[in-house]
Amino acid sequence: MSENNHRKVIIIGSGPAGLTAALYSARANLSPLIFEGSQPGGQLTITTEVENYPGFPDGVMGPELMELFRKQALRFGAESLFKEVTEVDFSKRPFRVVADDTEYFAEAIIISTGASAKLLNIPTESEFMGYGVSACATCDGFFFKNQHVVVVGGGDTAMEEATFLSKFASKVTVVHRRNELRASKIMQEKANKNPKIEFIWDSAVDEVLGKTENGKKSLTGVRLKNLKSGAVSDFKADGLFLAIGHQPNTKIFKGKLDMNEVGYLKVQPGSTKTNIPGVFAAGDVADPVYRQAVSAAGTGCMAAIDAERFLEA
Ligand code: NAP
Repeated sequence: MSENNHRKVIIIGSGPAGLTAALYSARANLSPLIFEGSQPGGQLTITTEVENYPGFPDGVMGPELMELFRKQALRFGAESLFKEVTEVDFSKRPFRVVADDTEYFAEAIIISTGASAKLLNIPTESEFMGYGVSACATCDGFFFKNQHVVVVGGGDTAMEEATFLSKFASKVTVVHRRNELRASKIMQEKANKNPKIEFIWDSAVDEVLGKTENGKKSLTGVRLKNLKSGAVSDFKADGLFLAIGHQPNTKIFKGKLDMNEVGYLKVQPGSTKTNIPGVFAAGDVADPVYRQAVSAAGTGCMAAIDAERFLEA
């Protein structure tokens, strides 16, 4: 085991939670090693402008914000590796982490692997991500003032996003693949009563339609397929919000850490402690509720302090 592969703290994941944990643990002289993972910078790197991160009164681009986070952590001695962790062993200390077929060891681990919005996996969806396609109404709803947006999904998130978007948009069309919503009664009622929200049932978004003008991409609509009749039609819209659920990125921790029924890591209330002493979780990976960059950064700070206290003890 080389000196360099044995750390006091290893951080898995590099969104707002991971990079804040890196900043705090670096400043506590814990020389953290961050594994950036498959999406360095996390979910904010697939959004455009972020207007609700405190400290940026004029807004900031998501990728730029995460670059600033990283720069600040590295300034204090955090080290980042653009590698994905593929295996962990938390059964004894030092904890073992494998990335790119190389073993690394740490006395404490901070998990901040985030969650990923489920995507439809249809052509052009990723091409227009951040340019009309979004998976976060709280982040991007404001850009659709007086415009017509489509929301895909039939669960609580879809109802919540549709209701939120109706504050800005002129019209919100919810496209659902069945003729019955999965959402709770109260959320359904709220959406049903909203004059700006309409529903298209038994339908799937088959394709994202868009254009590029003067080098700027924008959405022009979606191609819908009626799943009962098979009929295909083009539907005009300015935005598409995916609300078909989120998936916590916890596959490699299955059977190793306590999770809830849909895979979010469980932490002790008011802390970032998982069921294994010395392993902490921060950000969306342990948060099915708030899912904001600022709340992730907050728990990243908590995880670094929890790890520091654990190591001191
Ligand atoms: P969800 O309950 O799993 O609903 C996902 C919806 O997306 C379902 O209607 C599903 O259709 C649809 N869907 C899934 N994959 C699809 C695909 N490939 N194409 C088209 N449609 C697809 O997820 P969620 O709404 O994000 O909620 C997750 C959890 O958080 C739930 O427990 C929910 O109650 C909770 N939550 C609560 C609140 C609140 O209380 N304020 C707000 C948000 C979320 P089917 O119905 O046909 O399966």
